[in-house]
Amino acid sequence: MNIKYELVVVGGGPAGITLAKRLGNKYKMAIIRPEDYSMIYCAMPYVVEDLIEKKKCLKNDNLITGAGVDLIRDEVVSIDFNNKNLLLKSSGELFYDKIVIASGAVPFIPQIEGVNLEGVMGFKTQKDLEKITSFVQNGLKKAVVIGAGAIGIELAQALKHKGLDVSLVDLAQQVLPNLVGNEFAQRASEELIKNDIHLILNSKVEKLVGKNYVKEVHLDSGEIIYLDEFAPCTGNDNTTIKGLVIFATGVVPDLKFIPYNSISVGRQGIIINERMETSIPDVYAVGDCVQYNSLITGNVLGGKLATNAVPMARILADNLLGRKSEYKGFVNGAATKVYENYVGGTGLTVLAAEREGFEVVKAYSQLTTQFPIMPGKKELRLKLVADKKTSKIIGGQVFSGEPVTGIVDLISFAIQKEATAYDLLDLSYSAQPYQSFFPAGNIVVTAAEQIINQLEGIQN
Ligand SMILES: Cc1cc2nc3c(=O)[nH]c(=O)nc-3n(C[C@H](O)[C@H](O)[C@H](O)COP(=O)(O)OP(=O)(O)OC[C@H]3O[C@@H](n4cnc5c(N)ncnc54)[C@H](O)[C@@H]3O)c2cc1C
Repeated sequence: MNIKYELVVVGGGPAGITLAKRLGNKYKMAIIRPEDYSMIYCAMPYVVEDLIEKKKCLKNDNLITGAGVDLIRDEVVSIDFNNKNLLLKSSGELFYDKIVIASGAVPFIPQIEGVNLEGVMGFKTQKDLEKITSFVQNGLKKAVVIGAGAIGIELAQALKHKGLDVSLVDLAQQVLPNLVGNEFAQRASEELIKNDIHLILNSKVEKLVGKNYVKEVHLDSGEIIYLDEFAPCTGNDNTTIKGLVIFATGVVPDLKFIPYNSISVGRQGIIINERMETSIPDVYAVGDCVQYNSLITGNVLGGKLATNAVPMARILADNLLGRKSEYKGFVNGAATKVYENYVGGTGLTVLAAEREGFEVVKAYSQLTTQFPIMPGKKELRLKLVADKKTSKIIGGQVFSGEPVTGIVDLISFAIQKEATAYDLLDLSYSAQPYQSFFPAGNIVVTAAEQIINQLEGIQN
C-alpha cells in the first residue's frame, strides 16, 4: 500500500470515531484498527450477564466509512515520524501529512508469579468477551475478579448472575476507591455481600498457582482462593480450566508501535498540550493513550474514560478545522450500578482532596427521587465536597435507587465552571411528583446550603 493520506488516525475506539465523524468531509482521511469491529466496551459486562446480545455491542463501520473515511483493518507495527510514514502488519507502508495516535489502553496485569497460566486474563477486547462468555456458557463455576472498581464490580455481578461462585478482591480498604468515599462504598459492599459475592478487601494478590491452568489465588493475608473444586470447563479457544482469574486493575497506554524515545511519554501515556499536540509537529494524540492533568489541581491524573476520550477528540477536531479550542483537564465524572443501586462520583473525594492539600468542607444531603408521598420514590443521597479557602466545588458523590449520571454531570459542570457553593445556591431547578423531590428542595442546593452554613459558621 503506497498511499498518502492528509490525516491518519491510529485506533478505531470512541476517540478515533469522533474524529472520523467531525473531519471525514474535510480531510482525505484513514482510520487504522486491527479489530473486525469497534466495541462499546462499557456494555461488555451486560453481554456476559446475557442482558444484551454481543452483536449489539459491536459498532457499525458506517460510523467511519459513512463519514467518508477509509477504514484500514490492520495493525500499525511502527511509525517513522521523520519521514511521515508508518508500517502496517499486513499491507505495507502508508504515508501521512498529519497523524493522530488514538490507540487506547490495554489491561494492566501485574507481572506476578503465575499470570501466564491458562484462565488468567484481562477484560477489554472482543476476544476477552468471547472467551469469558464461552466458558460461562460451557458451565464454568468459579471466577475471581481482581479490582473492585466500576468494571470489576459490574463484571462480578454479571458472572454471579450466570451462576458462578465469584470472589472480588481489591487491595484498597473499600470498593470504588477512585469514585466515592467510604460511606457510599460501604453501601455498595453491603449489596455485593448480600448477593453472595465474596468480597475481599485490603488484600493484594501475591501469586497465582497451578499447572497449565490456574488453580489457586494467593493473597498477602495468607488466604488462598481455590479454583479447582469444580469440574473442568473448555472455552472457545480449546483451553480447559476450572476457574477464571480476571484482572480489572486498570489500564496502561497501548504504545508498543511507537519507537523508543521518539515522542515525549509520561507514566500515563503520550504527553500532550491543551490542543492535543505532542512533542512532534503534525503528530497529535487523544484518548486513553495520553497523559493529561486534573482540571482541579493541574497535576497529572489518570482519566481512562470514554467520556474523556470523546471530548479530547472533539477539541482536536476543532483545532484541525482551524478553530482554537483548548482542553481544560479531567474531572472524571463516572458511575456504576451495584444491583438495584446506582453510584457515581466526580472530581475529588474528601481523601483525594486532602491528599492534594485542600482544606475540605463536606456536606451530606438526603432526599427522595420522587415526591416522598409518591409510591415509587427511592432514596437519593449526595455528598458534596468544597474547598474551604475558595468555596469552590471540587467533588461530589451520589448514591441512589435511580440513575445518578444527571446529578454527577451537574456537579461536573459546576467544577468545570469553577462554581462556588454560593453559585449552586442559585441553581434553577425543576420539580414534578414522578421525577424529583418537592419543589421545596433540590439535593444539590440543599448540600450547597449546608456547605455555606459551615463556611459561615452557622449551625445547621
Ligand atoms: C469493560 C469496560 C467498561 C467500561 N465502561 C466505561 C464506562 O462506563 N464509561 C466510560 O466513560 N468509560 C468506560 N470504559 C473505558 C472506555 O472504554 C475507554 O476509556 C475508551 O474506550 C477509550 O477510547 P479510546 O478511543 O481512547 O481507546 P480504545 O477504545 O481503547 O480504542 C483504541 C483503538 O486503537 C487500536 N489500536 C491499538 N494499537 C493499535 C495499532 N498498533 N494499530 C492500529 N490500531 C491500534 C485498538 O485496537 C482500538 O481500536 C470501559 C472500558 C472497559 C474495558
